[in-house]
Amino acid sequence: MTKNLIVITGASSGFGAEMAKLFNNQGYPMLLLARRTERIKALPLDFTNVRVAGADVTNQEELRTAISAAEAEFGPLDLLVNNAGVMLLGNVTMQDSSQWQQMLNVNVMGVLNGIQVVLPGMIEREHGTIINISSLAGKKTFVNHAAYVASKFGVHGLSETIREEVSGHNVRIAMVAPGAAETELLGHTTDKQAVTDYNGWKQTMGGITLNPRHVAEAVNFIYSMPQSVNVREIDIAATRQD
Ligand code: NDP
Repeated sequence: MTKNLIVITGASSGFGAEMAKLFNNQGYPMLLLARRTERIKALPLDFTNVRVAGADVTNQEELRTAISAAEAEFGPLDLLVNNAGVMLLGNVTMQDSSQWQQMLNVNVMGVLNGIQVVLPGMIEREHGTIINISSLAGKKTFVNHAAYVASKFGVHGLSETIREEVSGHNVRIAMVAPGAAETELLGHTTDKQAVTDYNGWKQTMGGITLNPRHVAEAVNFIYSMPQSVNVREIDIAATRQD
């Protein structure tokens, strides 16, 4: 059976790279997006039916151009994973507001940008799936996470709203909300105390966090269900996480 095009944002590291490997093993044609394209090209993939493009998710035109080119080659996309995200922890009394802006731009506007590019085609075809990578920080609070929590609660709100809007068109909007995992995410935080606090919190779970591979498997599970079934949300975390 012919496999449809999958598009993954934030494919250059962490969860996105694991999703790329998992879907590549199943032979899906893919468009992999991130700003650091060289990192994607270095992934252990069979690139025969994989395309790589540089796109900043805050720039909708870059997304549209890359997706249009991939669709011209492989046909309409059937799955968009809005995975790109940034987490800049900090004490809200001291954090530079540019960091709040960056999180809201990437984590919320980036997701909306992707959705707006692909949703009209999915509605027209009455087929398609969008999976937004949120976080358990989209459901509960964490110290030093104010703007990040705001952005991820935003992802939950917009995902459910759009799901209700398009369910009648047979289009699935779903979420995966992971707990803590070892990726490059924490590495961008400039507040040293916030990093120390976060690493201390991780010790409360014995330092055992989620394997990014398992987040990729949750995404795969949602997509592998028949189009008539929407697993709306998967919350997945290390067993010892509170
Ligand atoms: P990583 O930092 O490893 O990966 C983040 C990805 O997002 C990179 O590929 C990066 O690519 C991309 N990205 C960041 N900013 C932009 C941008 N402006 N435009 C395009 N791409 C961008 O982190 P994770 O894999 O952990 O994060 C993936 C998702 O999972 C995020 O949404 C994150 O919030 C969420 N998450 C992570 C958890 C964790 O503990 N790791 C827990 C819960 C949720 P590049 O820099 O090359 O553009």
